[in-house]
Amino acid sequence: MLQIYNTLSRQKEHFKPLHEGHVGIYVCGPTVYGDAHLGHARPAITFDLLYRYLMHLGYKVRYVRNITDVGHLEHDADEGEDKIAKKARLEQLEPMEVVQYFTNRYHRDMELLNVLPPSIEPHASGHIIEQIAFVQKIMDKGYAYVSNGSVYMDVEKYAKDYPYGKLSGRNLEDIVTETRELDGQQEKKHSFDFALWKKAAPEHIMHWPSPWSEGFPGWHMECSAMGTKYLGEEFDIHGGGMDLMFPHHEAEIAQSCAALGHDSVHYWMHNNMITIAGKKMGKSYNNFITLEQFFAGKHELLEQPFSPMTIRFFILQAHYRSTVDFSNDALVAAEKGLGRLTEAYQRLMKIKSSATSSVEIGNLRERCQEAMDDDLNSPIVISHLFDSARAINTVFDGKGTISEADLEELRAVWKTYAMDILGLQLDGVQDTGAGMDAYKGAIDMLLNMRLEAKRNKDWGTSDKIRNELTALGFTIKDTKDGFEWSL
Ligand code: ZN
Repeated sequence: MLQIYNTLSRQKEHFKPLHEGHVGIYVCGPTVYGDAHLGHARPAITFDLLYRYLMHLGYKVRYVRNITDVGHLEHDADEGEDKIAKKARLEQLEPMEVVQYFTNRYHRDMELLNVLPPSIEPHASGHIIEQIAFVQKIMDKGYAYVSNGSVYMDVEKYAKDYPYGKLSGRNLEDIVTETRELDGQQEKKHSFDFALWKKAAPEHIMHWPSPWSEGFPGWHMECSAMGTKYLGEEFDIHGGGMDLMFPHHEAEIAQSCAALGHDSVHYWMHNNMITIAGKKMGKSYNNFITLEQFFAGKHELLEQPFSPMTIRFFILQAHYRSTVDFSNDALVAAEKGLGRLTEAYQRLMKIKSSATSSVEIGNLRERCQEAMDDDLNSPIVISHLFDSARAINTVFDGKGTISEADLEELRAVWKTYAMDILGLQLDGVQDTGAGMDAYKGAIDMLLNMRLEAKRNKDWGTSDKIRNELTALGFTIKDTKDGFEWSL
């Protein structure tokens, strides 16, 4: 039975969905004003793992991951310029051109990482009406006030009726000392009040009419409004990076409780952060490496390119609640590990069964399920797969045998856990489009021609085929039965 760690209760809980057989998940998606980096890849992959596993368990899953395209201001608080509006101003583009451009690139990166698209991907800018209605509900309940055309959450009043800070474990005094004094603060009763609606300054290019002013919603409002719109006033799982716990998710809880009288979310899940050579990712460290830079190997911290699958494997090798420290060496190790798994998978597809098994395949399926049921313990699943790779290699090397039933079971478990649940593309090539069989067939054909040339002692042709495929990035290995290749 699936257990997940609920950030709210700070313990692992048996997962029980609100509606039998159905699960609703909301995950905070990217703010689309720049290219995706490792900090985007980790939540995307973590919740992709959850999504895939819940579907494997037979649930019908509605997975909502939003696109933030308005209201996320520079300082993550209520101040500064809108991140997208700023980019649009600098590049002399329409804000929606910036949004579309980076959304397209985000989708491309996610596809390369084999992250499944969510069931619904709502944009904040497409849900202004819902957000205004949500703010109005909070106003009607008396937990918000209007000041100079902006609407703020009355946190002090709210905290008298509900526990504000319960998710992040903060209390109001901590929050007061943490909240920086910024421009526009004089509009608020207290520094910890946060904006539900902001009146747009004259130079602000993204604004909509509302009962309070021509303006735009506060950043936290979109998730409350879109989460309840698509998943209901109560839903199962809300996820995101740990950095969103405060203020973003804490504010979401306050907005829901204030408007609806109860919390919306049953299980809060947060993935831990990625550090780069021990340091937080941040502008001041100049260590934001975009996914595209990883794939191309173009960044001063990288000594080589790393494939999207290496990045995915690297992230899954750590439990999602542990920190992951990126370094070039750690990625090189991940690349090697993934190479060994890929080789084992390809051998598994090739080996032939015998009457009996001399290798032990154990209860691999049960062990993998047990690990996944234990709060999505992907590193343990990977270590079980490595264990079984030993048996596969023994049979492949002719030092052991495997029965037909064992072989079928092993192939099925690898397909389910490595490919479908971990989402690792182990067939040697990424992309599973319709042209893939033809492509693989063509490489096999070339390598068979090379075998033939070798048999005829035509070394010129044999070397030419090997060298040219190698130059294209293929790795070719001669084996006793013929060859193995990977890209
Ligand atoms: Zn959010």
